[in-house]
Amino acid sequence: MVSPALTLDQLNAAPLEDACALLDGVYEHSPWIARMALTQRPFLSPAQLKHALCQVVTQADPSAQLALLRAHPELAGKAMVDKNLTAESTHEQSKAGLTQCTPTELTHIQQLNASYNAKFGFPFILAVRGPRGLGLNKAQIIATFERRLQDHPTDELAECLRQVHRIAEIRLNDKLGVSVERGNQVWDWQEALAQYTDPGFDELGQLTVTYLTDAHQACAQLIRRHMLEAGCDEVAVDAVGNVVGRYKGTGRVKQALMTGSHFDTVRNAGKYDGRLGIYVPLACVQQLHSAQHRLPFDLEIIAFAEEEGQRYKATFMGSGALTGGFLPEWLDQLDVDGISMRAAMQNAGLSVQDIPTLKRNAADYLGFVEVHIEQGPVLNALNLPLGIVTSINASVRYTGEMRGQASHAGTTPMGLRRDAAAGVAELMLYLESRAAADGDSVGTVGLLNVPGGSINVVPGLCQFSLDLRAPTNAQRDALAADVLIKAQAIATSRGLQCTLSETLRASAAPSAPAWQQRWESAVADLGLPVHRMPSGAGHDAMKLHELLPQAMLFVRGENAGISHNPLESTTSDDMQLAVQAFDHLLEALAQELH
Ligand SMILES: [Zn+2]
Repeated sequence: MVSPALTLDQLNAAPLEDACALLDGVYEHSPWIARMALTQRPFLSPAQLKHALCQVVTQADPSAQLALLRAHPELAGKAMVDKNLTAESTHEQSKAGLTQCTPTELTHIQQLNASYNAKFGFPFILAVRGPRGLGLNKAQIIATFERRLQDHPTDELAECLRQVHRIAEIRLNDKLGVSVERGNQVWDWQEALAQYTDPGFDELGQLTVTYLTDAHQACAQLIRRHMLEAGCDEVAVDAVGNVVGRYKGTGRVKQALMTGSHFDTVRNAGKYDGRLGIYVPLACVQQLHSAQHRLPFDLEIIAFAEEEGQRYKATFMGSGALTGGFLPEWLDQLDVDGISMRAAMQNAGLSVQDIPTLKRNAADYLGFVEVHIEQGPVLNALNLPLGIVTSINASVRYTGEMRGQASHAGTTPMGLRRDAAAGVAELMLYLESRAAADGDSVGTVGLLNVPGGSINVVPGLCQFSLDLRAPTNAQRDALAADVLIKAQAIATSRGLQCTLSETLRASAAPSAPAWQQRWESAVADLGLPVHRMPSGAGHDAMKLHELLPQAMLFVRGENAGISHNPLESTTSDDMQLAVQAFDHLLEALAQELH
């Protein structure tokens, strides 16, 4: 690492004018941002400074935000060709190879620039040094440009501002000599793991790793190797294929801390869903091991073999095996090729008969913590790298049918219709406002079907689904009750018949207050605001909740938090902060147990 030209202490102590000069160039031609943020000195950490800068922009009026975007040069645009870029932009654009474009590439990018500007009214902005800081290549930049040109203007404005903050983050790192080596390590481990994908997906360049395929077993072996190399004392693959690593403590505290997440994926997945929660704690082990430091308790990191329920209709199988939730009848399930789970497990060399022995004894553990990529847009929108989960939402699902009378679209007067689809539409609008009224409930009609429908026929039947989620069982039940009552009221008033059958019900898994508090302290220690939020998605922690006190930490996703999608991403800066938060949690726990 080059010795930094600037320290946070210098920045905190400098007179305002000098401090402004020290942050010159962090935001392109927009010194007002640093000036306003600096009124909040002193900053405890680079993360706190970065957040303060983001907040100035967020709170600025829209015209100032637009001016900030317009202060940026076009990628490979006229300013680059004429060599009129700022020093920072010149460095970034040349590192991405944009200064060495072929004439054809240059023409293509300049056409994209023109189309983009015409559509949105500001230049396309992309942090070309990318989420890992190594630099995107020309092909990646062009692909991103083409994709984002299709976006909605509101989304694109937000995305450009986020890219501006990412550019500023990297420029600040350079100024302050901030190293994200541990975040980079977590990134690189996940990149290595992503080399394995199921047959048929490799050819498409897609990541898909389902239970006990060759790719899945290769992942388990690589995770095992990574765990051993990082310094775990014991690593074993258990009877359902979980990889269990243990970093031993001094032995003074008999109970262990359990952590981990899953390494199987959905089809055409991102690289971080689940896997981040294996490698963040492993980076902590790596540091403890290299410092020859032992915690008073054992740390058990589990890479769960199965969570997504893709190959067999059994979700949370890896974590479920630990809570005694593995159902023996699952072994007879067949995958699409007719291979039973039992056969798949035997082929992989797993000892099916040992599954019951995997059930953990709660008395052996302090608790369970899980780090997971958010898989949603909330942290991204708030410019926050980390969030604290208050509860994994309770859910209930129904399939429904609204039955009316199919009739001629031309001859049936509006007052004499019994339109099943209109009834469901009314219910959807009710659900939308009723869930929103709770603040943190969500309700979705994801399936909507008029069987055998026709353009000139009033729908006689409409089939639909309901997915309702809320942070507590009581809130979910109140929401569900209101929706069911409304469905019947709509049916009555429209002369329809409504039937709804429940297909799934899962209890909320509220975070254990003491463990949630430990995450909150860890995040606050990094100088970051503490943002509490429910998890809308299910996670392994939901299973472990049946056995142990648990709490989760969320890490911001890039690309508006998209997940279960190859665009799922996070930065090595955010991964580094997650690792540091985990360090804090471990240190604080060691202190508490002293
Ligand atoms: Zn996951």
